[in-house]
Amino acid sequence: MGLMNGKKGVILGVANDHSLAWHIAQRLHAEGAQLGFNHLPNEKMERRVRKLAEPIGAALIAPCDVADDASIREFVGRVRETFGTIDFLVHAVAYASREALSCRFHETSREDFKQAMDVSAYSLIGVCREALPVLREGASVVTLTYLGSVRVVPGYNVMGVCKAALESTVRYLAADMGDLKRIRVNAVSAGPCRTLSASGVGGFDKILEHYPTKSPLRRNIDPDEVGKSGLYFCSDLSTGVTGEIHYVDAGYSMIGW
Ligand code: NAD
Repeated sequence: MGLMNGKKGVILGVANDHSLAWHIAQRLHAEGAQLGFNHLPNEKMERRVRKLAEPIGAALIAPCDVADDASIREFVGRVRETFGTIDFLVHAVAYASREALSCRFHETSREDFKQAMDVSAYSLIGVCREALPVLREGASVVTLTYLGSVRVVPGYNVMGVCKAALESTVRYLAADMGDLKRIRVNAVSAGPCRTLSASGVGGFDKILEHYPTKSPLRRNIDPDEVGKSGLYFCSDLSTGVTGEIHYVDAGYSMIGW
């Protein structure tokens, strides 16, 4: 019997086979979960997601732009038609312009700040609000964050501010949705992994080189380790845990030298 047999849910944020969302999806699928996926509303992204999701028997592959409430609403409508209710929702979405991730931080423009916050932090609220009717009592919501929320990481810039907002959002949503429907909301704070989004962060290679020298485990993480922790949060193994920021970073975050 798989850990996720009989459970169904949706995963937002697969772009390709390097995506952290895809690593979580593979673990959930291997344990028997039925899955739905979004893609950005364009043909190229739809093709990319279909190529990965169809072979694992995805029940739903549909467009959703998390910066657009109407698009989220339409996607949740498709989720309702396909699944009725869902047991988990994975939010693995972030965006900041290349400019915002490479300029000096004090030069961040108002427009870039608003866009990054909208897609990377507010979207968790927008998605949870629209999905609330389809999330069953006791369901689990998981998002992804990074240490740049609480420490200055060169090049992470406005995304660090977004992740701070996202982590606070996790706590407020956990309090609110726990009260409403016993829904749990948690975040996995992943160590650096080579993905499409990460390639936009100025100096990302330096961050990757740094972890093996400083982390207690003397290495970078394997993205499948994010997959395994995602599985833990989506499953009944974590039913007593909510509002948590869970580091999967080879211990890097607790080192003070
Ligand atoms: P990724 O590029 O594979 O995933 C980011 C996803 O966000 C993509 O699928 C993209 O299509 C989606 N997206 C962007 N704007 C969107 C919008 N308006 N509507 C819907 N989807 C949109 O990269 P990733 O590294 O797997 O990122 C997933 C999450 O993990 C992000 O929140 C990221 O900040 C976080 N994270 C990544 C790392 C890392 O080192 N890669 C570390 C910690 C946290």
